Amino acid sequence: MKFDVVLIGGGIMGSAAAYFLALSGMAGDIAVIEPDPTYTQAATPAGAGGVRRLMCRPENIRMSQFSLDFYAGFHETMATPDNPADIRFRRQGYLFLTNRDGVGDLTDNFRTQSGEGVPAELLDVSALQARFPSVGVADVALACHSPEDGWIDPYSALIGFRKKAESLGVRYVKDRVTGIEAAGNKVTHAALAAGGTVKAETFVNVAGAWAGDVAAMTGARLPVVPMCRVQHFWHCAHEIEDLPLIKDDSGAFFRPEGDGFAGGRPSWDIEPGFIWDIDRGYFANYFEDTVWELVATMVPKFETLKLERSWGGHYAQNLFDGNMIIGRYSRGHDNIYTACGFSGHGIMHAPAVGRALSELVLHGDFKTLDLGAMGFQRLIDDKPYGEIGIR
Ligand SMILES: Cc1cc2nc3c(=O)[nH]c(=O)nc-3n(C[C@H](O)[C@H](O)[C@H](O)COP(=O)(O)OP(=O)(O)OC[C@H]3O[C@@H](n4cnc5c(N)ncnc54)[C@H](O)[C@@H]3O)c2cc1C
Repeated sequence: MKFDVVLIGGGIMGSAAAYFLALSGMAGDIAVIEPDPTYTQAATPAGAGGVRRLMCRPENIRMSQFSLDFYAGFHETMATPDNPADIRFRRQGYLFLTNRDGVGDLTDNFRTQSGEGVPAELLDVSALQARFPSVGVADVALACHSPEDGWIDPYSALIGFRKKAESLGVRYVKDRVTGIEAAGNKVTHAALAAGGTVKAETFVNVAGAWAGDVAAMTGARLPVVPMCRVQHFWHCAHEIEDLPLIKDDSGAFFRPEGDGFAGGRPSWDIEPGFIWDIDRGYFANYFEDTVWELVATMVPKFETLKLERSWGGHYAQNLFDGNMIIGRYSRGHDNIYTACGFSGHGIMHAPAVGRALSELVLHGDFKTLDLGAMGFQRLIDDKPYGEIGIR
């Protein structure tokens, strides 16, 4: 098989990039190599779908800004005859809660966000109580509320990108890349698990938590590893006003989901690696032992709740600084790019990253939003560019 562009991985990143490449009409023949059309192991369907501009790096804020607008109009832009592209976008806001130790970072980040045009507001404890009476304030010194942020259903967004890309001529190949061959400074072809190879002018490594394995196929090293994250869905019998997605310094978060709530808390001390059975070992009783108390601190009415189910997924964690890596990364190879290492930000950044990858492939550079600070060069220069404060 021979294509102009081959994307390795068809999660939300690969599918968003495929869409923007196809939309340009300039990319030629595009293929996405994806072994699992049901996405049982991909990160995207496991995500909470939160889309926020409460971040500290201007690039991250600007990507979320683009993505929010894009997701708001998704059903109009992305619908196809066989898919309404309803991603259940809810602009119900984000609320960060901090204790005294986090006030400086929250305030600094608020200034950056305001400078970027984000209509967020700082709430002191009494303003917080007046706005959201169910929120507990025992540990809270300051809050930041971004009422126009929100969330989507990530699986529907992934399928929306995929279906639209396919309608524009992108071919999805159900297979796994097992090796990559190069000649001189060019990657020439990828070997497939089912046998045979796929040739292309340009390759893009968008394999999520597997991006480090794909990088190793060209002898490159990406410090991106799978990190298991578990989420939970619960019901609460008490009356609770409409709440935004709420997150605190511990990393615990939740948001309304249907007639209940979905949320969790990243396990900071877990070793990298895939964990497919969360009912045993580290995550057995994780909600009862760790998460429940944290969410009940945020909303005391959660002291009585009914846990309905838990599920796991894997962040692609960039061990260097926790932010994404975009651009060329395989030294000596000019025609392979990546976008990976999103930790918990990939859904909110997918439209902007998909557009950025299409620009890199077509023009060799960013055209709309300069993401140069997020490139591999910062790893070579040993200059971390992570998020500060609540991440
Ligand atoms: C519990 C949890 C909660 C989250 N909450 C949020 C949130 O609220 N907001 C947010 O923005 N983000 C969130 N995220 C992060 C977000 O889900 C990810 O950043 C995003 O889905 C990454 O998309 P991706 O396409 O890079 O990876 P994936 O969706 O994992 O897709 C990668 C694809 O690559 C394929 N692949 C792997 N190896 C190969 C190979 N060798 N050849 C071909 N294909 C291959 C896989 O099959 C997979 O389908 C959360 C993640 C988790 C786990």
